[in-house]
Amino acid sequence: MSIVLNGITKRFGNFLALDTVDLEVRAGELLALLGPSGSGKTTLLRIMAGLEFPDAGTLRMDGEDATDRKPRDRQVGFVFQHYALFRHMTVFDNIAFGLKVRPRGERPSATAIRAKVEQLLSLVQLEQFAGRYPTQLSGGQRQRVALARALAIEPKVLLLDEPFGALDAKVRKDLRRWLRGLHDEIHVTSVFVTHDQEEALELADRVAVMGHGRIEQIGTPTEVYDRPASAFVFDFLGNANKLEGVVEDGVARLPGNLSVAVRGRKPGRALAFIRPDDITLAHAPDGPARITAIHAIGPTARIDVDLDGTALEVALPRTGLETLALRTGDRCRVSLGQVHLF
Ligand code: ATP
Repeated sequence: MSIVLNGITKRFGNFLALDTVDLEVRAGELLALLGPSGSGKTTLLRIMAGLEFPDAGTLRMDGEDATDRKPRDRQVGFVFQHYALFRHMTVFDNIAFGLKVRPRGERPSATAIRAKVEQLLSLVQLEQFAGRYPTQLSGGQRQRVALARALAIEPKVLLLDEPFGALDAKVRKDLRRWLRGLHDEIHVTSVFVTHDQEEALELADRVAVMGHGRIEQIGTPTEVYDRPASAFVFDFLGNANKLEGVVEDGVARLPGNLSVAVRGRKPGRALAFIRPDDITLAHAPDGPARITAIHAIGPTARIDVDLDGTALEVALPRTGLETLALRTGDRCRVSLGQVHLF
């Protein structure tokens, strides 16, 4: 099912939580809403679920106006950060719940419910846990139960609000891959809220980056990462080095005698953003930069550099660091790869 939001605005008292948001969630895609705390992600998701209603704007589901539709008439499945499982029910009964409480006439038979739950248990790889209670499961297993429960009603849309937010980094990573695989299998239109850029970039078909109640940019992970539309998006999607510069005659002059060609830009001050892995260093006794620290743990080395008074972070593969034989205190030359000017 597709969801199209137009001009969605939501206030809480005087606070503008969503400011005329336009967004299209395409049928069958996995879309991430990514943004810092308070940017309006959850509010937008709750509006899609019908748990919150906009002050202005419209929401269409498969082309039909669903702005005022009640949650139960929207065919959405919801998974929250804190596994809202029923503690007194087994895994099986938790998953079966949504089917058992259906009004008479729509309620499947006990045999059909059993078959459905077994199918879901297999989908979330928890076949042997049907008889356990939530307290007897790990956090990751509980979230898989929550997902199976949301899927039991065969929703047309799956809404996930930081579903792995309460789990540790390793489990999170595993579940992220697992969810991607699951989505590739069932293709239910899904919207996933996260403030973790790595999670969004790895998991989603498209990422909508939110800031201050607006969508700053929407695109594939590669598009938003490689071609950020604003300084905000650049900053939020990864480590950003910022160099203050001046543009004149088609060139941006940056600290340390660095310069980059910029065509069609008005003269004046500009802020250049560069990712740590877009900077390279070379030994140079009279170079404008000095290495202030080297952190070499894991496959990537992080090097802190002082460039004419501006602190830069440089990322190099560990092997590259060894080849260059750079040490703290060394002077070096800096060259820049891709520079984004905002
Ligand atoms: P987080 O990642 O912290 O959950 P978020 O991007 O999901 O953040 P929202 O939960 O959508 O942000 O909240 C957006 C803003 O609206 C916040 O500043 C929040 O305090 C405010 N807000 C949300 N719900 C309400 C409410 N019911 N009453 C008042 N303010 C609210």
